[in-house]
Amino acid sequence: MDILITNDDGVQAEGIRALARALRPLGEISVIAPDREQSATSHALTLHRPLRMRKLEEGVMSVDGTPTDCVLLGVHGFLERKPGLVVSGINHGPNMGSDVTYSGTVAAASEGNVLGIPSIAISLATWGSADFEPAARIARNIVEGLLRRGLPERMCVNVNIPPIPLDRIKGVRVTRLGKRIYRDVIEEKVDPRGKTYYWIGGQEPTWEHDESSDFTAVEEGYVSVTPLTFELTDYRGMVELDSLAITIRDHEA
Ligand code: MN
Repeated sequence: MDILITNDDGVQAEGIRALARALRPLGEISVIAPDREQSATSHALTLHRPLRMRKLEEGVMSVDGTPTDCVLLGVHGFLERKPGLVVSGINHGPNMGSDVTYSGTVAAASEGNVLGIPSIAISLATWGSADFEPAARIARNIVEGLLRRGLPERMCVNVNIPPIPLDRIKGVRVTRLGKRIYRDVIEEKVDPRGKTYYWIGGQEPTWEHDESSDFTAVEEGYVSVTPLTFELTDYRGMVELDSLAITIRDHEA
């Protein structure tokens, strides 16, 4: 099994190194990852400047682009065979609820999915100092289990691991994306030359209570596994809109 590993924290991040080490026994590993942090770049593609790739060591390359660029360059350019699996992570920080729409980690997995490759995004749910080894072991066990059972082609799963010792993790819970309560704050500051600038900030996120959510699972000490789909059409909305009989002429309706 050829496995393509990428992330959005950059090729030097501890999480991706731990992940590559952990998955090495499971197949032929290629790491293609951004040369610097690309968190919160979502599904961005670099189209308006050239991309440079650098070979750092055998099987490890960096790209001066986004996580999505990395998956595309890997699959359409640099890998001899189409990988059988894309694994993105291990991200330093949670990727839960509606935050997945900002996530470069999840976007890389969704790019794999778009290209017809089963994909997994893995995040360690803390922004604090982190030991990636327990999460890497869990990642290996999950990937191994999925490989053994056979990966559905359309599979894209989002895994969040609680930042606690391995022996305190209670198990795996299949979840849905929770609803985060956003309280972003824009901080206005003045630079040394008297010009104003802004930071997007805010307090620790809070979540709506939901037993079946990713957030609740992680909070209760479970590894959260959320299957994702990128079928975004709102079918109920189609019916509603249809009934509105929207027209481009003024007097028809
Ligand atoms: Mn990140």
